[in-house]
Amino acid sequence: MNSAYHRRVPSVSSLANATSKQLQSKPSALLVPVGSTEQHGPHLPLDTDTRIATAVCGAVADRLADTDGVNWMVAPAIGYGASGEHEEFSGTVSIGTSALRLLLVEYGRSASRWASRLVFVNGHGGNVEALAAATALLRYEGRDAGWCSCTVAGADAHAGHTETSVLLHISPQDVRIDERVPGNMAPLRELIPELRRGGVAAVSEVGVLGDPTTATVEDGARIFPDMVETCLRRITRWAPDRDGMLT
Ligand SMILES: [Zn+2]
Repeated sequence: MNSAYHRRVPSVSSLANATSKQLQSKPSALLVPVGSTEQHGPHLPLDTDTRIATAVCGAVADRLADTDGVNWMVAPAIGYGASGEHEEFSGTVSIGTSALRLLLVEYGRSASRWASRLVFVNGHGGNVEALAAATALLRYEGRDAGWCSCTVAGADAHAGHTETSVLLHISPQDVRIDERVPGNMAPLRELIPELRRGGVAAVSEVGVLGDPTTATVEDGARIFPDMVETCLRRITRWAPDRDGMLT
């Protein structure tokens, strides 16, 4: 018999590995990573946003473990998002804002049948419109949902210093270190009109906004805990705004 047949399939999340019976015995809350499958320049994997959101959820769950007797679980990630601005690049698969919004709404309605609280932890800026609309509706319907983003002050926009440093910290084996090239370094706000017109390809041939060549594992080791602390603080405080964003 082929030995691969016996290879253990790793569990993708604490929710995936739980049994239904385990979840009946005490109140559960759910952290749901929301990412994307989109180009991240020549050097980062397509699931960069999903990986970051998943890693942040894992670290947040470790810190929240058994807070007030609530069982904080990490759900399998939602690995597709609204990435239309990256569709000029191979590998990108975007489901768009309206499909993502509907997915999040139905996800929240279903999970809220047993989870007392639900947090979408976002790794991709393009998902914000869908997250805000979906979470606002879930809250209007009386479900205790909120969302937060994996961001830090001073971050560059896409596949640059920030994301590359974080990946060097959480997934060093998957960063194509020699393929890094600087992208468009202009502030995002200046690029928006052109981005709206022609997507990322119109402003950066390599699909990078920022400079990944300055990324270091040390910066990643500093930025990642910052993302975790920001989300943790918002989740602990639990003060959703009118869009369900945790402030
Ligand atoms: Zn990204």
